[in-house]
Amino acid sequence: MTDRTTTDIRHLLLRCQFCETWNRIDAARAVHRPKCGSCGRPMLLDRPYPLSDETFERTIQESEVPIFVDFYADWCGPCKIIAPVVDELAAAYQGRVLVAKLDTDRAPKMSMKFNVMGIPTAIVFRDGAEVARQTGAVPKRALEELLTRALA
Ligand SMILES: [Zn+2]
Repeated sequence: MTDRTTTDIRHLLLRCQFCETWNRIDAARAVHRPKCGSCGRPMLLDRPYPLSDETFERTIQESEVPIFVDFYADWCGPCKIIAPVVDELAAAYQGRVLVAKLDTDRAPKMSMKFNVMGIPTAIVFRDGAEVARQTGAVPKRALEELLTRALA
């Protein structure tokens, strides 16, 4: 693990969506369209980053910025209502918070492990632990408040 007392650089650990190589990315450089070190394709951090049962735990445990996860499903109407808001948050907070999404149909293990009883559910993690959660199609300010708490 990086010693935060000797550096202000915070990293994200993300698996490339194309070649499945794990990349450590300087969070502050998220706005500069970082590329995968293996295949050279962009990591696309200006929109919610898709996680899976395979990638979820490693990403939340080894990333050094708060992670906001939208637990959703394609068939879920209220999820579609908040999706554009989550997109906006991803763009607005890039570099400070990793905004991610998890398809609960494709990731049943993580949905169960984190006790997601209804969707949409937004959970914010910091240093691998849950720090805030909100269930339902809540207004944008409620989701922003989750992020504010995580960054405090
Ligand atoms: Zn790649």
